[in-house]
Amino acid sequence: MSEQNFDLVVLGAGSGGYAAALRATQLGMSVGLIEKGKVGGTCLHVGCIPTKALLHSAEVADVARESAKYGVTATVEGIDIAGVTAYREGIVASKYKGLQGLIKTRGITVIEGEGKLVSPNTVQVGDDRITGKNVVLATGSYSRSLPGLEIGGRVITSEQALELPFVPRKVAVLGGGVIGVEFSSVWRSWGAEVTIIEALPHLVPNEDETVSKQFERAFRKRGIDFKLGVRFQSVTQNESGVVVTLENGETVEAEILLVAVGRGPSTAGLGFEEVGVTMDRGFVITNERLATNLPGVYAVGDIVPGLQLAHRGFQQGIFVAEEIAGLNPIVISDNNIPKVTYSDPEVASIGLSEAKAKEQYGDDKVSSYDYNLAGNGKSHIIGTSGSIKVVRVNDGPVVGVHMIGARVGELIGEAQLAVNWEAYPEDVAPLIHAHPTQNEALGEAFLALAGKPLHA
Ligand code: FAD
Repeated sequence: MSEQNFDLVVLGAGSGGYAAALRATQLGMSVGLIEKGKVGGTCLHVGCIPTKALLHSAEVADVARESAKYGVTATVEGIDIAGVTAYREGIVASKYKGLQGLIKTRGITVIEGEGKLVSPNTVQVGDDRITGKNVVLATGSYSRSLPGLEIGGRVITSEQALELPFVPRKVAVLGGGVIGVEFSSVWRSWGAEVTIIEALPHLVPNEDETVSKQFERAFRKRGIDFKLGVRFQSVTQNESGVVVTLENGETVEAEILLVAVGRGPSTAGLGFEEVGVTMDRGFVITNERLATNLPGVYAVGDIVPGLQLAHRGFQQGIFVAEEIAGLNPIVISDNNIPKVTYSDPEVASIGLSEAKAKEQYGDDKVSSYDYNLAGNGKSHIIGTSGSIKVVRVNDGPVVGVHMIGARVGELIGEAQLAVNWEAYPEDVAPLIHAHPTQNEALGEAFLALAGKPLHA
């Protein structure tokens, strides 16, 4: 048994944990970073990065299929899953190596093993006790299932979906949120028949309703089937496939069932409750400065209620390190964090949906402008349709921006500046956008809301 002492102990080296560790060393703290798997966590190894590699492979197949439209002769002979795997693994391996190098250069001590909180300032790893003046809990999340729905065999989560050694011919996807539609999009581009089952009335149900409806039209046009507003009841599986039964008696037959019904906090059995951390349904409760009820104990990332996104985790990690160092960082609410659904088409948003804005401020106080990408030259050139909707309140600032179309995730930065800085459309309308770019569409929406529509 040994004891190691640090200024800061971080439990979990995913987006939230490693960001806290990196920033803390910049601020002069000694850091012990405890990780039972690989530094980088979910996002790097089984989340954001590998899924985006699959989506890029899917996009290449789609572009090749549509190449004749652009005067290029190309055909898709098939999908070489071994080649896709090598590409995906290569990307992850290179980012992993980079992160390991950075952690080493910064002088962070990585402690390998499963940690358990045994007192507010001590984490036990095997026989070793790791103590810190401050502790950051950052143990992340796991794929949830539904009561009575056991994962195994042909019933899989996103982790097994990533590593599927074949291209499925027919897939059922339970859950029409970000992860469900992301995999649906990939498999469809690779030629699979896909059926999504969603209990809520829309796909991407957390987005502005006009965007969800356009998304559904786009998916339908791509030949993706979906059943909305209906609950899963049961599933049976045999050697060749699964039969999913819905509560309305309908059945969906497929080769595999992907369960993508959300992610729960990975906190069970880690000693948090025993030591006295206030929890709610497995999540760690913090104040807005990410401090738990125990002095010196903070929490970041997916275990903190709210958006479960890597960039939120990064931001919270940096925030906590600066808070501990006494730098009094600015609190960023979930409302000011951009969300992107990576699929074909892409969805990107920030701030309040039109419905939420009306709920909050009253119907007559909210105005919006929905710019159709059909009017945007660059969108026309790259062959995408979609729209950009800007929401404002009381002839005042922009409170929400909602986009759908190819690559709109790359446009959310400007929208984010407008929402975060509470800019008026009149403030941002005069900004000049390069032509031809998709950014011009956002500029046109700002112009229209400022009462100066140019092309509308
Ligand atoms: P994690 O990244 O889960 O890290 C937690 C770490 O703690 C893990 O490495 C784990 O091994 C370790 N750990 C847990 N318990 C212990 C213990 N007792 N002792 C030691 N170590 C422990 N977000 C985006 O922003 N963009 C995306 O495109 C995106 N795509 C995604 C796609 C998929 C398929 C999935 C599943 C998620 C995706 N996410 C995406 C979400 C993103 O991955 C998470 O929000 C992010 O990883 C959360 O970071 P975290 O630090 O809270 O937890």
